[in-house]
Amino acid sequence: GQILPESSVDVLIVGAGPAGLMAAAWMAHTGVHTRVIDKRGTKIFNGQADGLQCRSLEIFDSFGFAERVWKEANHMLEICMWNPDETGKIRRSDRIADTPPGISRFQECVLHQGRIERFFLDSIRDASWKTHPVDVERGVLPESLELDDSKVEDHEAYPITVKLRHLSEEEATPEQYGKQLQDGLFRSNLAPDDTDELLTKSRAAAKEGSEEIVRAKYMIGCDGAHSWVRRQLGFEMEGEPTDFVWGVLDIIPITDFPDIRNRCMIHSASSGSLMVIPRENKLVRLYVQLKEVVPDASGRADRSKITPDTILAAAQKTLSPYKLSYKYCDWWTAYQIGQRVGRNFSKQTRIFLAGDAVHTHSPKAGQGMNVSMQDCFNLGWKVSLVVRGIAQRYILSTYQSERRRIAQDLIDFDHKFSRLFSGRPAKDLTDEEGISMQEFKDVFMRGAMFTSGLSVDYGASMLVAKPGAAAVQGDGTDVSAKGEKVVAKEGLAKHVELGKRFPSFQVLNQVDSRPWNFAQWLQSDGRFRIVLFAGAMTSAAQRERVGAFCHQLENILKRFTPEGRPIDSVIEVLTIHSAKRISVELLEDFPQVLHPFSEEQGWDYNKVFVDDESYHEGHGRAYEQYGIDQERGCLIVLRPDQYVGYIGELEDVKDLEVYFGNILVQPQSVVK
Ligand code: FAD
Repeated sequence: GQILPESSVDVLIVGAGPAGLMAAAWMAHTGVHTRVIDKRGTKIFNGQADGLQCRSLEIFDSFGFAERVWKEANHMLEICMWNPDETGKIRRSDRIADTPPGISRFQECVLHQGRIERFFLDSIRDASWKTHPVDVERGVLPESLELDDSKVEDHEAYPITVKLRHLSEEEATPEQYGKQLQDGLFRSNLAPDDTDELLTKSRAAAKEGSEEIVRAKYMIGCDGAHSWVRRQLGFEMEGEPTDFVWGVLDIIPITDFPDIRNRCMIHSASSGSLMVIPRENKLVRLYVQLKEVVPDASGRADRSKITPDTILAAAQKTLSPYKLSYKYCDWWTAYQIGQRVGRNFSKQTRIFLAGDAVHTHSPKAGQGMNVSMQDCFNLGWKVSLVVRGIAQRYILSTYQSERRRIAQDLIDFDHKFSRLFSGRPAKDLTDEEGISMQEFKDVFMRGAMFTSGLSVDYGASMLVAKPGAAAVQGDGTDVSAKGEKVVAKEGLAKHVELGKRFPSFQVLNQVDSRPWNFAQWLQSDGRFRIVLFAGAMTSAAQRERVGAFCHQLENILKRFTPEGRPIDSVIEVLTIHSAKRISVELLEDFPQVLHPFSEEQGWDYNKVFVDDESYHEGHGRAYEQYGIDQERGCLIVLRPDQYVGYIGELEDVKDLEVYFGNILVQPQSVVK
C-alpha cells in the first residue's frame, strides 16, 4: 500500500464540542503542541445546549471571554413554578431566585452552544497563534488507535498511534432529517451514530492523501455520547434509559402566558410537564414531555413521529387555557432521557474520556455542557503541566477520582429531578402515585447549589490537603501524596473550603486603588498560586512574620522554577493585606518577592492588593467574608483551576515544601 505521512503531537483532542474546546483552551493558553479534530464539516450554529452555570462563566472569565458571553446571553433571574389548583387549572405557585443570591459574581444565563463554541475558538486562536497555533481541523476523524503499554511511563515517548482520515466536504456534512429547518436529531440519542458509516463511505471513495498517522503523548476523547474513542478502549457505560421522551422547540412565541420571559416549571393536572427557558434574541426554548410518543419493546422511541407540530401541540395542552403559537422556529429536537456514567475515565492516564463520552443524562437541569466543559477544565491543566515537565505524571490519576464522583452526583440529581418533573402532580396528600409539588420545590431548591456548579468539592489527594484518606481508584491507584501527607488548617479561613473553588471578593490594587474582583487575577495560565493574606502590615510583629515567610518563600519558588524562567512562572504569589491602603507603601513595606522586579519591565504592580474602602465601589470586606483573622492573616494555595489545595499559617513553610514537592518536578537540586 501507499506510505502514509507521519507526524507527532503532544496532545490529540478528538471532538470539538464544549468539552474538546475547553481542553484545547488549556493547551492554547499554556503553549502545548496540540491538534484538535472533529468529524463534522462545521461547528454548530444554533440549538443544542444553552444553559450556563455561574461556575462556567467564572471559568470563561479565567480565559478572558466571560464578558462576551455575559453581554450576549439572556440573564435568567427568576424561576416561576406553575401547578394545577383545586379546579385543575394551572396557576403560579412560587417565584424564586434562579441563582442563590451571593454565591458568585455571575448568575445563570443562556446562550446557545454555537456562540459558546465561537468564543472558545477565538480565545484559542488569540492565545496560541504566536507559539503553537491550535486550530480545529474539521472533517477529520480517527479510524484506528493503538496504545503501547510498555511506554506509558516514559516521559519522552509517544505511546499513542492514531490513523486519521480526512473526509471530503460532502462527507463531513450531516444529513438533516427535516430538510428546511435545522434540527438536532442527527446529534440526538434518538438517532443512530453515523461514525462507522462515514468511515466506510469515505474508505470506498478514498483518495490519496486522505489518511495519515499521528503519534501522540496524550489523547483526550471528547467525541460525545456515541464516543468512538470509548468504543476502541472497550469501556462500558453503566445506567439505564428511561421511558420519558422530550421534545425541544426554539421559537419566538406568540402567547398570553404571563411568565414567558421567566424560567418556568409547569406541571399540568394531566397533560404533562413543560419547561420554559427564555433565550437571547426573543427566542424561548420549550422542553416538552411527549406523552403520546412511547418507546417500543426495544426501548427506543420512533423519531419519525416527532415534528415541531407534535411538540407544539403537546405544549399547548400543558399551557391551556393560555394560548401559544409561533411564526418563527429556530431549531428543534427530541430525545429520550438516559442516565449513564462510564466506569473508566482513562486508559493508563494516557488516553482520557471527557464530557458526554463518559456521562449522559437529560438536558433539563442544564448541566451537560457545563459538566462536560468542567471535566476538561479539571483535566487540561494537569495534562499540560505533565507534558511540559512541570508536574509529576501521577497527578493525572486525580482526573478520574475527582470527576467521576461529579458525574455520579449529576446522574443522581438528574434522576430525582427528571422523575419529579416528568410525573403527574398529586391531587392531594392521599394521591400516592402523583408527585408532591412541595417535594419538587424542595429538591429543586437544594439542587440550585448543585446546578450552579459551585458545590463541586474535590476529595483528598496530593492536590487537596484534606484530612482523611485519599480516594483509591477503581484500578487500585492511590491518589494521595506519594511522599509525606500534608493536612491543611481549614479554621484559618472559616469561609474557604478545601477542595472547592476559591470564592472571590472585591479588593483594591495597593498602588493605584483600582477595585478588582480578586478572581480576575486568577487567570487560567497553568500556574499554581499562593495567596498570602499578609494581615495587619502596620504592626511590627506581623511585618516580622511576613518578612520571615518571604525569606523562605524565595527558596521554594526557586526550587520549582526552571532555570532562566521568571520567578512567578510556575507558582505565582499574590498578596492581600488588611492595613489601610494609605498607611503602607508597596516598595518600602513589602518584600521584593511579593512584587518581583525584572530588567525589562521594572516592578510588578499587580501582585499586592488590600482589603479597604474604594473611591467608588464601597468596601469588599474580603477578610471578613473569607473568615480570616485581620491581624495574623494566613496563606492559601490555589491550584491552576482556582480550587483550594492548602491553607496554613505563615510559619507553615515546611507544609508548602511538601505540598509542592508531592506535585511538581524539581528542576534544580535542592538549595538549602
Ligand atoms: P458534544 O457536544 O456532543 O461534542 C462532540 C463532538 O465530537 C462533536 O463536535 C462531534 O462532531 C465530534 N465527534 C463525534 N464523533 C467523532 C469522531 N468519531 N471523530 C471526530 N469527532 C467526532 N447542556 C447544558 O449544559 N445545558 C443545556 O441547556 C443543554 N441543553 C441541551 C439540549 C439538547 C436538545 C441537547 C441534545 C443537549 C443539551 N445539553 C445541554 C447537553 C449538551 O449539549 C451536551 O452535554 C454537550 O454538548 C456535551 O459536550 P461534549 O463536548 O462532551 O460533546
